[in-house]
Amino acid sequence: MSQYKPKTTEELKLMRKGASILREAQEAVKRHLKPGAILLDLDRIAEEVIRSHDALPAFKGFHGFPSTLCTMVNSEIVHGIPDSRAVKAGDLISIDCGVIYKNLITDAAFTEIVGGDETNPKRAKFSQCVYQALVAGCEAAKTGNTTGDIGHAIEQKISAGGYNLVKEYTGHGVGHNMHEDPHIFNYGKPGKGDLLIEGMTICIEPIVSIGNPKNKTLSDKWTVVTLDGKDACQWEHCGVVTDEGLEIFV
Ligand code: MG
Ligand code: MG
Repeated sequence: MSQYKPKTTEELKLMRKGASILREAQEAVKRHLKPGAILLDLDRIAEEVIRSHDALPAFKGFHGFPSTLCTMVNSEIVHGIPDSRAVKAGDLISIDCGVIYKNLITDAAFTEIVGGDETNPKRAKFSQCVYQALVAGCEAAKTGNTTGDIGHAIEQKISAGGYNLVKEYTGHGVGHNMHEDPHIFNYGKPGKGDLLIEGMTICIEPIVSIGNPKNKTLSDKWTVVTLDGKDACQWEHCGVVTDEGLEIFV
């Protein structure tokens, strides 16, 4: 970590622009995300927005991943491949997306209850807790703090909610590569781990199960699901470490 090279002002500018494209793709997907929406259509919509800005979908082709989005419905945890399934009212869907703009990568995820929170209040409460954990993690992402401070803040919120972290999956540095140093675990001890420095661009992404976090990868070799078939949820912000916490790009 002593080797970490903070992003330059110019690189940060490009990442903010890439993030604004990613946000536009997210908004387009959200507008289409109604009961009956087909996962593949969401993927196409995101890809069209991204390419219309001379940017590229960062996940497509990454280690052979076939799509622009990762779509995770209910018990799917990460790396879900959009297919011809339609979502239903009350489904819990997490959508992860990455953009490459001028060779710099941004990466972010959100979760929604299809048809609105009132269609499944238990799932809405779960998603809200994971989001609040993300917010706490972002607040802890201050210059001079450590990755352990971020992880601790996230873990506290998830434990308080009575949910369980899927500990295999972590946040990460981002920019020139999809995954850069440092690793950002969603648990940890205050003051431990890697030092957060000004100009460090990171993704913070709590990935959480409502039941047992044990999981397996499906035969498509990508989609990771909970073994107990219970729900999982992911939220992710991408931004730069500052004195006041994470400046959230997206
Ligand atoms: Mg990520
Ligand atoms: Mg992501």
